[in-house]
Amino acid sequence: MSGRTHAFILYGILVGVVLGGVAGWVLGERMTAVAWIGAFFLDALRMIVVPLVVSSMIVGISGLGDVRRLGRTGTITILYYLATTGLAVLLGILLVNTIRPGVGFEWLGAEVPDVVKGKETTGFADILRSLVTPNLVDAAAKTEILPLIVFSLLFGGVLTTLGEKGKMVIRLFDGVNEAILKIVFLILLIAPIGVFALVASRLGQAGGGPAFFEEIRRIGLYAATVLIGLLVHGCVVLPLILFAVGRRNPWKHLAHFTPALSTAFSTASSSATLPVTIECSEERARISRRSSLFVLPLGATINMDGTALYESVAAIFIAQAMGIPLGPFEQVVIFLTATLASIGAAGIPEAGLVTMVIVLRAVGLPLEGISMILAIDWFLDRCRTTVNVWGDTVGAAVLDRIDPVQGEA
Ligand code: ASP
Repeated sequence: MSGRTHAFILYGILVGVVLGGVAGWVLGERMTAVAWIGAFFLDALRMIVVPLVVSSMIVGISGLGDVRRLGRTGTITILYYLATTGLAVLLGILLVNTIRPGVGFEWLGAEVPDVVKGKETTGFADILRSLVTPNLVDAAAKTEILPLIVFSLLFGGVLTTLGEKGKMVIRLFDGVNEAILKIVFLILLIAPIGVFALVASRLGQAGGGPAFFEEIRRIGLYAATVLIGLLVHGCVVLPLILFAVGRRNPWKHLAHFTPALSTAFSTASSSATLPVTIECSEERARISRRSSLFVLPLGATINMDGTALYESVAAIFIAQAMGIPLGPFEQVVIFLTATLASIGAAGIPEAGLVTMVIVLRAVGLPLEGISMILAIDWFLDRCRTTVNVWGDTVGAAVLDRIDPVQGEA
């Protein structure tokens, strides 16, 4: 890809997001007319997620060279992701206890929101069960990534033990992977229009600028607490880790991944953004292929720093607003369950809202509380998804540094 095309995509996508925000703000509901363009872009990305995830994991694992490395690399990756998620939750808990946005918040009472209905019994066992599927094709059809990752891990791992036969199959998936990444590049050419349409139509659907402003005003302190947390984690904590451990310049890293971050903000889906994240990682940031193909798909499903932070803030906000005191024990339970709920959340819009059931139930808070934060969730979802994807990219760079594969570029 030429430097000019890089620049066109990078600046085009930024201009798209900004213009989308302005158009949605000013023109309000009229902008829902372009929703189909956004849906087209989103579907184009979703169309390639399944072959991309499967081929990436298989090629990524074979890139480790020896299947015994899988245990080591897998463990380091998961421990790193857990550590950064833990930091995000801790930050959320500190902020919400300091700012106390729920104190004095007027709650009018409401029913359990529709998105949560039927999910009341979601628990730890469900998260474990979602690792596998009774039907791989069905999981692929529903873009349920986690079982596909588990299958591809097993499949790729086994292929590396099959000698020449295995190598042939790996070469096939390598070709598939390269072809899919070329398609990602083609899709990126329409990304500026796609992100414009997604942002403008969603803001329009929310009633445009004045309605959005009113909503923010009503629940402002809660939204501000989440946003401050996301900003501190995204602009201070993660860049520090990237600089100190990953030995990369955070500004350059940001420039390389701007298309992925803008796509995350526009789609509110880590999974749909994954093709763009991998493209930026390989083509722009020059992170090793092994890290791009192995660490990023895993991160898109289990590493959600933004979601974890938001879950902790939201749960404690709900308790504060309802006047339910939470002692140190409950706060520790929130720390653990918010981490778990973020791992269990799928990389799709508002998945975090649903897995919050786990956090609320663990400390005995009523599920109706979710209705308090529902109206603004579409916006916070975009912001936390951006941090989720940013965390994955930092993870790929850091793991590339602390666990390099011998002889790989
Ligand atoms: N939308 C988020 C993501 O895809 C998940 C969430 O709802 O927090 O990363």
